[in-house]
Amino acid sequence: MIEEVLANLFRIEIPLPGSPLKSLNSYVIRAPERNLIIDTGLNREECLRAMQTGLREVGVDLEKTDFFITHLHADHFGLVSRLVTDASKVYFNRPDAEAVKTWGGWESMIDYAGMNGFPENELQAALHSHPGYRYGSERVPELSVLGDGDTIIVGDYLFECVETPGHTRGHTCLYERARKILLCGDHILNDITPNIQCWSDQGNPLKSYLESLDKVYELEVDLALPGHRRLFRNYKERIEELKRHHHNRADEVLSILGKGPKHAFQVASKMTWDIEYESWEQFPVAQKWFATGEAIAHLRYLEEKAMVIRGAEEKTIIYSLNND
Ligand SMILES: [Zn+2]
Repeated sequence: MIEEVLANLFRIEIPLPGSPLKSLNSYVIRAPERNLIIDTGLNREECLRAMQTGLREVGVDLEKTDFFITHLHADHFGLVSRLVTDASKVYFNRPDAEAVKTWGGWESMIDYAGMNGFPENELQAALHSHPGYRYGSERVPELSVLGDGDTIIVGDYLFECVETPGHTRGHTCLYERARKILLCGDHILNDITPNIQCWSDQGNPLKSYLESLDKVYELEVDLALPGHRRLFRNYKERIEELKRHHHNRADEVLSILGKGPKHAFQVASKMTWDIEYESWEQFPVAQKWFATGEAIAHLRYLEEKAMVIRGAEEKTIIYSLNND
């Protein structure tokens, strides 16, 4: 599916088979000198074919094309190494570039999941069904690092980078001030809620995310172009909804811990999820993984607010309400 959103700015729908996200929006800006592709899809044949078909239809030559990737997740970054040519620039943010370069494998994430109560016997299955494990980039192309406020000119479009940490440490949106459009990656989605996960004791992704929502709230946006699902115009309203959502989730976590101390996997199993399975036991292991990461993000947020404390027990992290 290809749609011309604005003059010379196209959306190509890249299928994500088997993913609850359904598809990725890749945006293509066609320009006389160099074209720009924003986000690419997973490193798998279905995505490559959809991209090639779309580019052919729009008349974009990869030899004259640069890339901007909003963040390191495989559904955005995975395919880029299959599309670049020697002349391509791949614009990316510094924190995610560092995470990609210093990537030491899945071991530390797996260990951390285990410490948070993720069942030992499901860890390997969770890893093997993870999109990043199955369809990540096969190699990392040379990256051109951009920071907050840096600009990219493509034809008569002028994009400003807006760093929005939270969904990942370096997630970055592109703002086109004259046209009042924001290419918002996975920072703001309209039909689904961006997943905020935490897989280490460093950082506080949910706090960063909420701050990044406040940061972009001030931008004048007539049309938001998200990484998944439909484009939307109810920009400020949607930001307010997302903030409310996470505050409600944090309250839910507090009430779950009110019934007794728990590890993050147990907390996740008691939270309400907008998913078509009847019970937690029926969740596919990949969904249990994302849910646990999201529970940890809320627990870490509440821990830093001193509303939740962790027990001294060494093997498993047990959280409880801070009654002091
Ligand atoms: Zn993402």
